[in-house]
Amino acid sequence: MARIETPKRIRGTQDIFGDEQRRFATVLDTFERVRRLYCFQRLEIPIFEATGVFARSMGETSDVVSKEMYTFEDRGGDSLTLRPEFTAGIARAYITEGWQQYAPLKLATSGPVFRYERPQKGRFRQFHQVDAEIIGAAEPAADVELLVLADQLLKELGITEGVTLQLNTLGDAETRDAWRTALVAHFEAHRDALSEDSQVRLDKNPMRILDSKDPRDRPIADSAPDIDAYLTEEAAAFFKAVTDGLDAAGVQWTRNSRLVRGLDYYRHTAFEFVTDRLGAQGTVLAGGRYDGLIGSLGGPETPGVGWAAGVERLAMLIEEPAAEQADVILVIEEDSALNTGFRALKLFRENGLSAEMIASGSPRKRYDKAVKVRAKVIVSIRGDEDSSNISTRADTGVQEHEQVKELILRLVDA
Ligand code: ATP
Ligand code: MG
Repeated sequence: MARIETPKRIRGTQDIFGDEQRRFATVLDTFERVRRLYCFQRLEIPIFEATGVFARSMGETSDVVSKEMYTFEDRGGDSLTLRPEFTAGIARAYITEGWQQYAPLKLATSGPVFRYERPQKGRFRQFHQVDAEIIGAAEPAADVELLVLADQLLKELGITEGVTLQLNTLGDAETRDAWRTALVAHFEAHRDALSEDSQVRLDKNPMRILDSKDPRDRPIADSAPDIDAYLTEEAAAFFKAVTDGLDAAGVQWTRNSRLVRGLDYYRHTAFEFVTDRLGAQGTVLAGGRYDGLIGSLGGPETPGVGWAAGVERLAMLIEEPAAEQADVILVIEEDSALNTGFRALKLFRENGLSAEMIASGSPRKRYDKAVKVRAKVIVSIRGDEDSSNISTRADTGVQEHEQVKELILRLVDA
């Protein structure tokens, strides 16, 4: 007989369960709680968009657009792409929905994102991000607000050891043009010593050479001219306002003048929270200001700033969360008590107590099984709906035990 081939999980995707799921949920719950503290509105956007939304926002020469997108033609012949990030889709939504009327908007979202990359620890093809954006605010105070939010999120997750906020400015358009010219001159002088990838970058996206990981590029990138000499007065003042704000709010940061970020749309502030605990996958949260993005998509000129963090990378850094514990475990010690059990279970749950029933297997062994589950309260039912047939025992939940006793009185009186 032919063996049926069992289905496989697609490379780079994950089935998240057990301890891993609890970590994942802790990150998302904490993000939800903290974004409320900062009054960011929750937003949901599509998982796929017209390919142009990402290609035009992120830049055709960026790694994501040129190598990592999941792009396909749908049945109607349109080119669609599974979102590789949130920012471009949010910018698209802002334009299509006419959200200028609500600006400035503080938005938060989370969910799966897709990139065709080589899977390894902390790097997947379907992964998850939490994302925060402020659209329609040109002031450095918005950058500060987002960075303080990020900092508090990491602290509330208990991720404090070995994480640093690296901060840079990419200046305004004038700064960027002048710096770019200087960079090109520098790299041209060393063209032959650059890696093949960086020789291509030199023609298309020379700033990207600065964050190349290739050892051949490093000395040339490290000796490249700094942006500081090219900062306009305005750009320098903007950056100072951001760093002053962070200092005032007590957020630690360090300057990394080599930090450029891979996408075309960044202006002024660029930042990454980096850890030494995840090997090569050390960036846990990253973002910056993207004042030109919405205009370049054909919308009204609108400033914006935002960040995204990898849920899986954050989940790897937190302490193992405690397993969920039921409030009540209900043991049916005689099969004739089963229907009383159903009634009791419903009553507990309707009154906000989580409850589980043990009613299978040898009746004599059920109580021992229940003890092992370690709920806050154990309830056992031996026969008819009579209080003499129902006993309760508090394990860790004294308060829950009181509530259970009251509910059982209601059950037998009914
Ligand atoms: P990296 O340099 O690690 O590729 P990136 O600069 O491409 O990261 P961003 O586009 O800034 O990443 O995305 C924001 C965050 O999403 C990253 O800081 C990281 O935590 C997470 N992330 C990015 N790519 C992946 C991936 N393939 N798998 C898991 N998490 C990822
Ligand atoms: Mg990447």
